[in-house]
Amino acid sequence: MPSRFFSIQFRLVVGFALVLGLALFGVSWYVGSVAQNEVERFERRDQQIRAERVKRLLARHYFRNRGWDNLQGAVEQAASATGRRIIVEDAHGALVADSHPDSGEAFTGDAARSQTIPIEVNGRLLGQVTLVRGESTGTIREPAISRLASGVDRALLLTGLAAGVFGVLLVWLMSRRVLTPVRTLGAAAQKLGQGDLAQRVPTSVPGELGQLAHTFNIMASNLQEAEKRRRNLVADVAHELRTPLSNIQGYLEAVKDGLLQPNSATIDIIHHQVLHLVRLVEDLRVLALAESGSLRLDYQPVAPGELLEQTAEAFRARADAKGVELVLDLPRQLPTVEMDRTRVTQVVGNLLENAILHSPEGSVVTISARAPDSETLRLAVADQGRGIEPEELPQIFDRFYRVDPSRARATGGSGLGLTIAKQLVEAHQGTIGVESKVGKGSCFYVELPLSPRLNGAAARTDNSI
Ligand code: ADP
Repeated sequence: MPSRFFSIQFRLVVGFALVLGLALFGVSWYVGSVAQNEVERFERRDQQIRAERVKRLLARHYFRNRGWDNLQGAVEQAASATGRRIIVEDAHGALVADSHPDSGEAFTGDAARSQTIPIEVNGRLLGQVTLVRGESTGTIREPAISRLASGVDRALLLTGLAAGVFGVLLVWLMSRRVLTPVRTLGAAAQKLGQGDLAQRVPTSVPGELGQLAHTFNIMASNLQEAEKRRRNLVADVAHELRTPLSNIQGYLEAVKDGLLQPNSATIDIIHHQVLHLVRLVEDLRVLALAESGSLRLDYQPVAPGELLEQTAEAFRARADAKGVELVLDLPRQLPTVEMDRTRVTQVVGNLLENAILHSPEGSVVTISARAPDSETLRLAVADQGRGIEPEELPQIFDRFYRVDPSRARATGGSGLGLTIAKQLVEAHQGTIGVESKVGKGSCFYVELPLSPRLNGAAARTDNSI
């Protein structure tokens, strides 16, 4: 069956035609039966009047002729005047006269078609007369009534046909107008599915369809953005991997060609590049897991003060080597927090590493913790470094983003540290942010819920990622 038979427009038109047909049939049937009843009521009354008139005529004849003799002529006359077959019987039921004796038409007893009334004068029964409307007299129905009935029927039929045609045409036009945006949307969705992510549809249509078009456009934009991000990521990853690999390749070729001695200094350089590669790959793995929501967190009650002290201790040697002072600013009492200790240590470690890296000699890096309300723990790492330009701030949590790429790469940074930190904090249902003033320093802060909603996460006892 052609697909247009399954189209919404076709179904709408057919559906409407059916409803219209049923409605018209119902109205016609109702109007027709009401008209029929009225016509029959009128005919019965008419019959009654005629019968009374004939009865009076017959009574007069009876008295004038002192009996029913010579009645046939008068009955035939009355029959042609009234347009009825007239049958007269005497008081004993014997047939006296019949205006149409040869009609052969049997009396039907149909109340609407025949009428029998007794002929009585002063309480004396002279006989009875029956008036029959029938084929024989050509008077099944009065011509005027018959015209009225067929006129009503014809009017109903014509009105119904006109309303039907006009209604179906109207529904067809309206549904075409309403469904045009749906067709446009369908075509755009098909092209989008085939990979043309630039597809957009007009949103000027009012109502739900306009809303749908708007939602479609948002979806297409998101898909396009995601595709762009995916392509950028692949390019970025390839770029990041290529640099240390090219370095290793260069050193190995120089050793092979005898340009460089395979001594411990050369091996150290190559080892450093390999470590950088390993860290990069590991960072990418953690990031991929965190972004896909498959990162498993091992929630346990942790004393935040103790965690910060231990992390600071791990970085003290590095800070000392750079002449940077590490200061812990912890209140005496801090609530215990449900968290994955390893992952939060990783986040604080990353912030500390950046802070020390960007701090000048003789400056101070402060690690603090507070519980500003009964639901949140706020950790902060503040430095007195060069700070971050306001226009750079929105991007520093993006993948592979470095404020100064050449310097950052030289220090071994992959531009993934803050991105991973953000993902890990968000996996804890927390937030991470930064306040920075150029020339004064930066303060990175992390806010964690004291009791995260462990929907599903509580089941994650496995710490492997
Ligand atoms: P990386 O691993 O290369 O350090 P991050 O994601 O940790 O990358 O940091 C992104 C960029 O943010 C870095 O290139 C650095 O320039 C900037 N940045 C991070 N922390 C600080 C800080 N405390 N002070 C100034 N700049 C910072």
